[in-house]
Amino acid sequence: MPADVSMDKIVSLCKRRGFVFPSSEIYGGLASCWDYGPMGVELKRNVRDAWWKAVVHERADVVGLDTSIMMHPRVWEASGHVDGFADPMVDCKSCRLRWRADELEKQLCPSCGGALTEPRMFNLMFKTFMGAVEEEASTVYLRPETAQGIFVNFENVITTSRKKLPFGIAQIGKSFRNEITTGNFIFRTREFEQLELEYFVKPGTDEKWFDYWVPERLDWYVRLGIKRENLRLREHDKSELAHYARACSDIDYLFPMGWSELEGIANRGDFDLTQHAKASGKEFLYFDAEANEKYVPYVIEPSAGVDRSVLAFLIDAYEEEDVEGEKRTVLHLHPALAPIKVAVLPLSRNERLTPLAKSVYRQLCSGFVTDYDDSQSIGRRYRRQDEIGTPFCVTIDFESLEDKQVTIRDRDTLAQIRVPIEELVAILEAKLRGEAFDASSLWATREK
Ligand code: ATP
Repeated sequence: MPADVSMDKIVSLCKRRGFVFPSSEIYGGLASCWDYGPMGVELKRNVRDAWWKAVVHERADVVGLDTSIMMHPRVWEASGHVDGFADPMVDCKSCRLRWRADELEKQLCPSCGGALTEPRMFNLMFKTFMGAVEEEASTVYLRPETAQGIFVNFENVITTSRKKLPFGIAQIGKSFRNEITTGNFIFRTREFEQLELEYFVKPGTDEKWFDYWVPERLDWYVRLGIKRENLRLREHDKSELAHYARACSDIDYLFPMGWSELEGIANRGDFDLTQHAKASGKEFLYFDAEANEKYVPYVIEPSAGVDRSVLAFLIDAYEEEDVEGEKRTVLHLHPALAPIKVAVLPLSRNERLTPLAKSVYRQLCSGFVTDYDDSQSIGRRYRRQDEIGTPFCVTIDFESLEDKQVTIRDRDTLAQIRVPIEELVAILEAKLRGEAFDASSLWATREK
């Protein structure tokens, strides 16, 4: 597992540095609900953007969608969620704690060893009422996945986007599951955000596309800095497969509590489109002009979680190291994910330094997410930036007033170089674009 990174350390860093706070904390918190603070909201947005860039913007065969959280209740009947989206639940007869029966190793309460009730099936969908009258007819559900919003819009998207198979529809959004057991910080919560792609293909080519998407998705995490040895693929055997799935592989991450699912990739066949066709009376046939035939497309679904990804990126980036006898905590986040890209740090609040430091800040902040910090000692400010994963600090000192140069400090190598202020934007741009982990190339050329 990632060297001695405990969940407690991550939770504490998240609270201390403004990544994640317990929800409604002043009222004692609400179980399994969390709020993203100033750093967390940037990190989360960067995770979404990185996924959208890789899955939608950098591909000609995928378009995006943003559908409503509340949908017609018949959607969830057709999809099988009303009847089937349930987990077996048991209660401890002594301490009253509630457990998921399928996750227990013994049929005794894991907390107090007490006897358990018989399992009862518990539907995970949150119910609410639409409009003023609370009656059965006005029941709506909060969506437990974003996927169904995509399936019911298949026809709308294909006619307006004029896409040909194979093509995909992507969506990012909140989903809600009344999970029986939650926990492990933001790993399993009742309100969470999903990153889902439904990739429609010609039947018969589905296995090929499934085999394409599994490594493609695994690579995405690696490209964004997760160490390959902390990721694994786990193929579901037939007994584990959901009723609609023809195949499924999980991308697992080595979380502090052990290997756990980060993303699932499923071959759903034509189950969803066929179900909605039956229930709505509409046809979901695709006309394949090349083959001159009509068929219901099959779908490959890579489905990931924003919050779980955020957690994995944080854990994998976390390091405590000794620097000259002092402990340094650092997040080696990929620059694309780092909440703040550059911090401008005048050596002190001296009135001669402030105008130059502010003008450097103004030059940078329209191009990069930039922090300006002139409080406390420079050492403490570096440590704060290290803990939130800021790739570069720019320090302005008294010499800067004379030579119009500033110092760039690299978060990972701690190397420092002096560069002319007029070249600062170009240098930072180049480094943040991808050369950031290879400091030598750019810096060596400057030294010549
Ligand atoms: P699990 O087995 O962990 O409950 P699942 O197999 O039910 O997950 P999927 O339905 O495949 O999950 O959902 C796709 C992704 O959505 C998951 O891989 C995960 O990243 C995210 N996700 C699902 N449930 C939750 C949850 N309760 N909290 C946070 N993220 C979740």
